[in-house]
Amino acid sequence: QLTCEIISIGDEMTSGARLDTNAQWLSRRVGELGVVVKFHSTVGDTLSDNVDVFRIAASRADIVVATGGLGPTRDDLTREALSIMVDRPLEMRDSAMQHIESMFAKRHREMPERNRVQAMFPIGSDEIFNPQGTAPGIDLKVERDGQMPSRIFALPGVPAEMVRMFDETVAPRIMQQSGGGSRISHAVMKFFGVGESEMEQRLGEMISRDREPRVGITVSGATISLRITATADTDETCAAMIAMTREEILKLVPEYYFGDGESFEQQHAVEATLRARDESLCVIELGRAALLGDWFASLGDSPAYRGGISLATTDDMVGLLDVANTADAMTEIQRRFRSDWVLMVDAYPPLDAKPETPLPNADVNLVVRAPGGKCHEKTIRIGGHPDILHARIGKAAMAWLRE
Ligand code: ATP
Ligand code: MG
Repeated sequence: QLTCEIISIGDEMTSGARLDTNAQWLSRRVGELGVVVKFHSTVGDTLSDNVDVFRIAASRADIVVATGGLGPTRDDLTREALSIMVDRPLEMRDSAMQHIESMFAKRHREMPERNRVQAMFPIGSDEIFNPQGTAPGIDLKVERDGQMPSRIFALPGVPAEMVRMFDETVAPRIMQQSGGGSRISHAVMKFFGVGESEMEQRLGEMISRDREPRVGITVSGATISLRITATADTDETCAAMIAMTREEILKLVPEYYFGDGESFEQQHAVEATLRARDESLCVIELGRAALLGDWFASLGDSPAYRGGISLATTDDMVGLLDVANTADAMTEIQRRFRSDWVLMVDAYPPLDAKPETPLPNADVNLVVRAPGGKCHEKTIRIGGHPDILHARIGKAAMAWLRE
């Protein structure tokens, strides 16, 4: 199994001015390719330190992925550091120069003279195409005694450029090197209503490191993502492998699954269902928070979401609408918003407890008014860190609505 070291270059990281998100992102992606990330190194903008860090990394890892230091300014030292390390001079590459010139032409700007250095490469290295920026990446093999050469991929620090270059060029090259076929496909499945550890238990062997295709698990705001990565010689084989793995996963954890896609959330699932039925929803959120309103608003101009209100207490709501009780309020809101469904969260608990003491479990009442006027109620007992407690409640409300 191939090993990898990730290097983050820049004073902004060593000084703490910026969080090193590149290393986190790259570690996940490299791991998904079946390569073991053994080390992370961070180094400032000092030439000799950069040479040292590259030397050490190449001596102990088969693959090195570095980000930063490819800009045109004096503190961008990656090209020079690599050239010193392998003791080969930099040469000008016409193809890279043309790309840089065309990037400036596209933006209707004159190319400053100093950008020419971005077309300089250590002799014997390959270019990594950068579709979004001026700085091409560098792909350099470093000979090692008695071992396969170590392969260094140097990418720009700008996260968006780095991400695309890794996915489009670096990942296929790593796969080719590991003998896994050069095509890579991903699929992301989304789940809600289950904790990470239970999910891991239920999935068992599915998430083991040496399984093909690999399945990675991440959690964000109580939503669980499973990312399937398949590598093969053709896209068709990748797609078939992914389809098979999806089915196996759905057999193991059918009840929490709600959809596919990196940025797919429950509001998308709710909206799709409503649209298919030509129905609409509005929301009432008590306790001052308005998460559902925000999430549904993020869907844009959808006919399935008619709007919502957010107030502090039930009394405020009943007073505002001039009705007798919650049930009447649901009816009144339904009428005023002309929506088929009303979903109410009553109420988000206050988050004024100290952040280091998790709130005790809160009982939260959820009410749904269905088309035709029938109301359903459910109380959920919910706890968790204040940072995600409200998100959990809002998401639990959507999960219940989907039932
Ligand atoms: P540029 O052509 O923009 O100078 P570069 O390859 O020299 O590209 P840097 O100058 O090191 O890259 O960084 C460019 C931008 O990317 C900066 O805003 C920097 O804060 C950010 N950045 C660099 N490295 C990382 C990292 N590891 N994690 C997150 N952001 C980063
Ligand atoms: Mg720079």
